[in-house]
Amino acid sequence: MSDDLLSDAGRRLEAACALSHVSDEALARLRQPAASLKVSIPVRMDDGSLRIFAGYRVRYDSTRGPAKGGIRYHPRVDVDEITTLAFWMTFKTALMDLPFGGGKGGVTVDPKGLSMAELERLSRGYVAAVADSIGPDVDIPAPDVATNELVMGWMADEYGKIRRQAVPTVITGKPLALGGSHGRATATSDGAFHVIDTLRSSLVGDREEPSVAIQGFGNAGANLASSLSDQGYRVVAVSDSSAAVHDADGLEVSALRDHKDETGSLADPPVGRELSQPDDLLELEVDLLIPAALEGAIHDGNAGHVQAGAVVEVANGPVTSAADEILDELGVVVVPDILANAGGVTASWFEWIQNRQGDRWEAEVVAKRLRKRMVRETRAVARVAEERDVPLRSAAYVVALERLGAAMDATGTSAIFSDGGG
Ligand code: NAD
Repeated sequence: MSDDLLSDAGRRLEAACALSHVSDEALARLRQPAASLKVSIPVRMDDGSLRIFAGYRVRYDSTRGPAKGGIRYHPRVDVDEITTLAFWMTFKTALMDLPFGGGKGGVTVDPKGLSMAELERLSRGYVAAVADSIGPDVDIPAPDVATNELVMGWMADEYGKIRRQAVPTVITGKPLALGGSHGRATATSDGAFHVIDTLRSSLVGDREEPSVAIQGFGNAGANLASSLSDQGYRVVAVSDSSAAVHDADGLEVSALRDHKDETGSLADPPVGRELSQPDDLLELEVDLLIPAALEGAIHDGNAGHVQAGAVVEVANGPVTSAADEILDELGVVVVPDILANAGGVTASWFEWIQNRQGDRWEAEVVAKRLRKRMVRETRAVARVAEERDVPLRSAAYVVALERLGAAMDATGTSAIFSDGGG
């Protein structure tokens, strides 16, 4: 699965190259990660036994600045998945024109099987194992699937102990009390909302109350469900790893969030009815389908059944490249992940700047700057898509690739050997 992911990412890179003016040397550098680390993390469990977990940190590229990317806890994590996610981060930070490269980390673990104390020991153990590879000017982690501000707080604290000084700039997505930023927790969903709002007429036309189905009810999916619902969209279906809930008239999102907080899942929901198969959500006739769970949700086996007008990739990599072609033939617009979910890393950049300045911005300042950056880059992507008559994903990759190529060429020596090099 993750090997397929990596080849899929490679195919997208080659496709973008065909549309861009990027040097062969830059392309050669982008074909593999700059550095890849695998670590073993010994953790003392509550029952006294010792378990060894596999952890990873991949720095894909840092030509435009320190690598940036989250840490994922999931049983399926392996080096290929983390490398692919780091590749996507490289393109995402370039697309948003942030002074960062791309990185990613993860631990192969089912966090639901750990107590809080075990989770803390694992998180601190991860940082101890990768401490020489991360740092405020080298590679800056953040939250991803199954990690949150509590985990980031433990990690920042552990890094500070190792360096024998507080280093808030080493990690973003921290709790406010430890130097986190206002707005970071909802930045991914807020950013996705700005992207949808900017592209609204091309995604849903002049529909007054567009219908939405969201796969994944975690940080990104549940927050986006709330803001879309608040802004007059009709959220008709949501799902998590245990159940999907549907009501064609619209779901009361707050009731489902309370239920998930109380019980830990969407099963036996207080509103709507459960779909017999959670993945049936992907085939509902809706204006917007929003995969916000994991990669590979829409693939060549089910893409032909998608009845949505548009797909907004809030998860990383939820649509495979084979599915992309099928959706394109069906006339389904796809808003790519490197744009749709870039609000998280953009607010992480704000947090890093605030920590470097020893400052804290008001919530309104963060919200305003996030909106401005998301709208600006969404318009840039839409413009390239129109000018070159290509899908939004191709346009996003072209914008990112040309920025990456320019940075790589500026650092290289090829000009010395070219005709004009003297
Ligand atoms: P999370 O752990 O908070 O939530 C993940 C959700 O997906 C959970 O509700 C889980 O139950 C659900 N899920 C898992 N498998 C599922 C399945 N087969 N069907 C339906 N639901 C399923 O994670 P998150 O932070 O919300 O991240 C979700 C996606 O968004 C990931 O792809 C992540 O890389 C991406 N993303 C997150 C951020 C961020 O800031 N958190 C930023 C950018 C991208």
